[in-house]
Amino acid sequence: MKEPIIEVKELTKQYKINRKHFWAKDTFVKAVNHISLQLYSGETFGLVGESGCGKSTTGQVILQLIKQTSGKIIYKGEDVSQFSAKRLKNWRREVQIVFQDPYSSLNPKKTIQWTLNEPLEIHNIGTKESRKALIIKTLEDVGLDANYLNRMPHELSGGQRQRVAIASAIILNPEFIVIDEGVSALDVSVQAQILNLLKELQKKYQLTYLFISHDLNVIQYFCDRIAVMYLGEIVEVVKTDEVGLMPQHPYAQALFSSIPHMNDDDQKKVVLKGDILSPNELQSGCAFQTRCPLAMEVCKQEKPELKSIAENHVVSCHLKEEESYENRCAI
Ligand code: SF4
Repeated sequence: MKEPIIEVKELTKQYKINRKHFWAKDTFVKAVNHISLQLYSGETFGLVGESGCGKSTTGQVILQLIKQTSGKIIYKGEDVSQFSAKRLKNWRREVQIVFQDPYSSLNPKKTIQWTLNEPLEIHNIGTKESRKALIIKTLEDVGLDANYLNRMPHELSGGQRQRVAIASAIILNPEFIVIDEGVSALDVSVQAQILNLLKELQKKYQLTYLFISHDLNVIQYFCDRIAVMYLGEIVEVVKTDEVGLMPQHPYAQALFSSIPHMNDDDQKKVVLKGDILSPNELQSGCAFQTRCPLAMEVCKQEKPELKSIAENHVVSCHLKEEESYENRCAI
């Protein structure tokens, strides 16, 4: 049985909300609510959902850029929270992140050489000469060259800046990279170039990606498996394959129905109605109950659990427990 490179167990991240009055009780909002995931070596695992659903928080907690409230991150069988300071520093070489906006993730006052040299110096890697050679090789791996060494970020296009951000992520030869909306700020033609580059680098460096995006087209094209998040929870994990995505959760179906299909004139776009619950409003039942066109009485009372419905396919919905699901699922 293949062992996961990253395992997330019952992960929760909650934030305290400012009290309106000093005598009021503390209240908390759950940005991530008891999620569990397994990511396997070499795969591209997508995390998709509306803005504010908790997907970026999940990525940052996995990398320990912010601490979880509860739950565990297991990296190659080791509990990350138990790492010593030395092990944690070494682990930072093995896991990296690429953010949406390369301009804000690069130091505007420093050259590209300085930016790429910094992680090598922090980890005490190589000599001055060998570091420079590695920087040039890494620039070439991302489609740039030595001519960029002395350039400043503002002299580069958006696509070139994102290539530098990717170079900065791979220069320490990591195994796992979180790509948080990594192509969302780019033009469509540049997006395609960067996605192709990421695919090439994945093979060359044997990388595992957690790819976070709100862009359904991109995530469907780029990922091997996709987890759909709603209000801090995973509602479905589904494999992408040749026949495309076959989501079963009503929210995931609505989300993916908005992608235009060139050959489908009868395509129905599902427009969700109803208010989105605030995560701290949810007392019981399914988080999607106020917007779900198929909600039943049980959905207000009992929280559905993530259950396997096929190989590589889990869904949390009471309808999956109903015999009449296929007939009722009109969307
Ligand atoms: Fe809709 Fe109920 Fe399924 Fe939630 S559990 S998605 S409310 S049918």
